Amino acid sequence: MDFLADATAGEPEMIRTRRAIHQKPELSFHEVATSKLVADRLESLGIKVRRGVGGTGVVGVLKGAKKGRVVGLRADMDALPVEEESDVEFRSKVKGVMHACGHDGHVAMLLGAARILAEHRTELSGTVKFLFQPAEEHGGKGGALPMIEDGAMRDPKVDYVFGLHISDTYNSGEVAVRPGALMAAPDSFKIKILGKGGHGAYPHLTVDPIYIAAQIVIALQGVSGRMMDPVQPFVVSVCSVHSGTKDNIIPDDAALEGTIRTLDKGMRKRAKAKVSEVAASVAKTFGGKAVVSFMEDAYPVTFNDPRATGKAAEVLKKIPGLKVRTADQVMGGEDFSRFLEKAPGTFYFLGTRNEAKGCVHSAHSSKFKMDEDVLKLGAASLALLAAEFAKPKGP
Ligand SMILES: [Zn+2]
Ligand SMILES: [Zn+2]
Repeated sequence: MDFLADATAGEPEMIRTRRAIHQKPELSFHEVATSKLVADRLESLGIKVRRGVGGTGVVGVLKGAKKGRVVGLRADMDALPVEEESDVEFRSKVKGVMHACGHDGHVAMLLGAARILAEHRTELSGTVKFLFQPAEEHGGKGGALPMIEDGAMRDPKVDYVFGLHISDTYNSGEVAVRPGALMAAPDSFKIKILGKGGHGAYPHLTVDPIYIAAQIVIALQGVSGRMMDPVQPFVVSVCSVHSGTKDNIIPDDAALEGTIRTLDKGMRKRAKAKVSEVAASVAKTFGGKAVVSFMEDAYPVTFNDPRATGKAAEVLKKIPGLKVRTADQVMGGEDFSRFLEKAPGTFYFLGTRNEAKGCVHSAHSSKFKMDEDVLKLGAASLALLAAEFAKPKGP
């Protein structure tokens, strides 16, 4: 089976699909047209389809002719609230909405992989499950968990799961793989600072929440610099500050919002505890009170099973012309982490950086542009991982 040749044959269809989705981007949990396109296409390939899984999710099940394992392949489908400024002729037709994270390409590649695998079903072992998920861009409340709760990883139970994300860090023609922690647990927090308002001319009669907020913003960097293991990646950023109405009124309260990023369970626990402690004690020092809350159900660390990932890297090396690199850890979060909690597998990056074509802008940028030449590589990689890991004894 030469999956790269098959993917190259399917390239025009993948480009058409990707551009069609690109022009009609849909925001998280509103992927109605996209999921219909996906489900219809899978059905046309003779793949059994379940629609409306965990919202707008779609699950396709393809049974090979021979016995084997169950491999899940995932693509995310949602777009972002960004006004497109890229120079492509198939720009978004929806004002203020853009596929700026490449999920249009992810969908096209997974559909491309589905075609390849469906056409080889007589030679295929095991079962491949196609997991098209809504709302990856929905913070901790993304579409993976509702899909899992709706049975996406059961009946048949998924033994291995794989997913990819296009990346402007790596060049076209490269994939980047990493065993262990790849992406961070993104824990967002809110700090409500309660003071006592009054006149700006008489601060001694007030408890100034803005002053306390400023002290907390500074002190939190001390958590990073003085309280966490310096050889472990850690970020704390305060990204929103709100308080006050007028130049001479000290308000009653202030609100901070931010995010902490960790790549390790122990670090995560400690970081949350330290952020809470420091905020509370700084507020207390200046006579106020800080109420710290973390968003529940934030994404976990995206943790690639080391054994499966080592094998996946070997499998990917079989694709002619594809360079397999070691991925750097990143502090972004990924909803795919939820699937990796249910089955071992790997999330990997597919390089799409191409200076000559101007594909240099980062994901989430209004100028983001994908190198479509990599669609065939992505599709071949997914199809090959599925075919190899679905074999009774694996790759
Ligand atoms: Zn994104
Ligand atoms: Zn993304």
